Amino acid sequence: ETVVNRIAAGEIIHRPANALKELIENCLDAGATNIQITIKDGGLKLLQILDNGHGIRREDMSIVCERFTTSKLKKFEDLSNISTYGFRGEALASISHVAHVTITTKTSDSNCAYRACYSDGKLVPAKPGISAEPKACAGNTGTQITAEDLFYNVPTRRKALKNPSDEYNRILDVVNRYAIHNSGVSFTCKKQGSNQADVNTLSTSSTLDNIRHIYGNVASELIELGKSFRKLEFKVNGYISNANYNLKKMNFLLFINHRAVENSSLKKTIESIYATYLPKSTHPYVYLSLEINPQNVDVNVHPTKREVSFLNEDEVIAAIGDTIQERLADANS
Ligand code: ADP
Ligand code: MG
Repeated sequence: ETVVNRIAAGEIIHRPANALKELIENCLDAGATNIQITIKDGGLKLLQILDNGHGIRREDMSIVCERFTTSKLKKFEDLSNISTYGFRGEALASISHVAHVTITTKTSDSNCAYRACYSDGKLVPAKPGISAEPKACAGNTGTQITAEDLFYNVPTRRKALKNPSDEYNRILDVVNRYAIHNSGVSFTCKKQGSNQADVNTLSTSSTLDNIRHIYGNVASELIELGKSFRKLEFKVNGYISNANYNLKKMNFLLFINHRAVENSSLKKTIESIYATYLPKSTHPYVYLSLEINPQNVDVNVHPTKREVSFLNEDEVIAAIGDTIQERLADANS
């Protein structure tokens, strides 16, 4: 059973950046406004994430790493109406099958924090011979989750991830995306032992401030988008680069109902619109946030698939394409 769980876990958690994405979404679900991330060896040795969200109650600590235990899904029917990030209850369970997990957490109504260690979904003693029960300790309201030695028990996967600095860059990309999309939340990300953060945004800065901070001069050429489509039941907001700004490759940040996702037909449509404005070797920066009626979003896609589909996809994509086309034409007339 452990092996089966480990294989299932490996399908959800491919690499440190996947694990971190799930952990960030949990912090945001918990209402955090401050998220601090510490990484060692590209996340393979250590992934640590500290938030100031609502914390986990002492009595829930024994089950949070069990598969399909989620506080976010009451009934199966809720699947079609889901508006929070997490709805599967598989992320922490999966991580605990492929790493050593420690959670320190405090709710605002508790006098103290509690710390517990997990393996294969269950509480385990911090060291042999002591109790596995959560242990009272000092701490602020919020949660710190530590995942150590990722894939220590999946040697093939561990071997496939050869380059920690590559993994670190993927991590920074995930943090940057969530930082840009969540302008009310401050994010930091640094390597363990370093006193310099590689991502450092403030809860008071705007989306545009964050884009400028993270991508530098791209922000000077950005066009703001914002449009609602009543009949198709969606809204699009975001920032797109003007035709005369050049990147080495298209930088496309897509959020659907606040989850970072991918949609390759939308991406292709946008690329082909820019192709009429840009010289062949140059590419745009595009950040889009779509809010779609949750009932129209396909939530049954497998968790490994970041690719998301939705109802009336062709019409929705065409509408977004037209909006981008108009704004680019205006800016360049
Ligand atoms: P899901 O997010 O789909 O519910 P997860 O496995 O990601 O499943 O998390 C399991 C549960 O653990 C969550 O439903 C939540 O109750 C709790 N949890 C995880 N991370 C946090 C956090 N940072 N703050 C508060 N609660 C958390
Ligand atoms: Mg989750």
